[in-house]
Amino acid sequence: MSELSSVVIGAGQAGLSTSYHLSRLGIDHIVLDADDAPGGAWQHRWDALTMTDVHGVAELPGSQPPPRTHARANLAVPAYFAEYERAHDLPVRRPVRVRRVTDDAGTLVVHADAGTWRTRTLVNATGTWSRPFIPHYPGAESFVGEQIHTVDYPGPEHFVGMRTLVVGGGASAVQFLGALAPITDTLWVTRREPVWRTSRFTPEAGAAAVALVEQRVARGLPPESVVSVTGLMLREQEQEAARLGAYDARRPMFERIEPHGVRWPDGSYEPVDVILWATGFRPAIGHLAPLHLRTPAGGIQLDRNGRGTTAVADERVQLVGYGPSASTIGANRAGRTAAAGVRRYLRSQDAIRV
Ligand code: FAD
Repeated sequence: MSELSSVVIGAGQAGLSTSYHLSRLGIDHIVLDADDAPGGAWQHRWDALTMTDVHGVAELPGSQPPPRTHARANLAVPAYFAEYERAHDLPVRRPVRVRRVTDDAGTLVVHADAGTWRTRTLVNATGTWSRPFIPHYPGAESFVGEQIHTVDYPGPEHFVGMRTLVVGGGASAVQFLGALAPITDTLWVTRREPVWRTSRFTPEAGAAAVALVEQRVARGLPPESVVSVTGLMLREQEQEAARLGAYDARRPMFERIEPHGVRWPDGSYEPVDVILWATGFRPAIGHLAPLHLRTPAGGIQLDRNGRGTTAVADERVQLVGYGPSASTIGANRAGRTAAAGVRRYLRSQDAIRV
């Protein structure tokens, strides 16, 4: 079996940006993607999410940004990615789900359900969408109502007539309350007091938020979502819910879940029909476990104090869309950094071989 210079796992924003830069550097590679069609996680986002709802999808390198219209994000972004893959002739193979990556005497071996590939370097761009996170609370299995995570959000109409408890302190929770409070009875719980942003979002504020995540990654801690540290803001779409008091009635986390509701440590109780878990995601990196990249603190340490993309534990491996680069703009930049990291590694090895 021949050996590739690089394999990219995942064809979302991070993987496509990486592939674009690898191609420009003339580095032979393939991109393995688990989905049936182009679009990364965007193709799975709920129908009610439009291009005006999202904060903004940065343009992939060498292209125009997708238009900011009322089009569904789960159609507009996949169409944009599909055209991008075609226009740049990117070597994407799908559907190919990678199960694990192992080391065979210095060569990385990528094991997937559709085949096995040997490669000198690896760029992991698998995002977080396939690893929804729901914290465990006692009694969760006894709840007779519905429990829905962001990944399965069916759109607002589903919740009409159902008392809905939204859990989570991030942008998704704020958006869900904005859509649901005007049409049904809602409650909101968060682990921490929500941090509201009072001023407009500036590039400086964005850089400061990313720096906080970089510090975690530099120390090998599990990364937090970039969005979770930028602060929350109510947009036009959330004003009606705000007027109805949906955000003022926020309570701290409950202690346990009962068959028909939730109970707090002080004994107070609220009956609910649905628990909507807007509790985020974790990096989808289980297939990298055989490479032992994680620190004892549970994260993967990246070079340049968390600003780079090279795994400190194994310089053959780059991570993009991970930690500080888990946004469309961050993924773009990480793709360029990772391609340069791949070239650096290949050159250093070739210099040793001659
Ligand atoms: P993804 O888009 O998740 O792509 C990962 C790809 O990897 C997928 O195609 C998947 O099939 C593939 N994959 C996963 N596991 C495997 C495997 N084992 N084998 C093979 N392939 C695999 N960011 C912004 O900048 N602006 C926004 O407005 C914005 N809005 C958001 C709204 C929501 C609801 C969410 C959840 C996130 C939002 N983000 C936003 C974050 C942003 O979407 C991502 O950070 C960004 O798109 C980076 O994508 P990615 O390439 O890392 O991952």
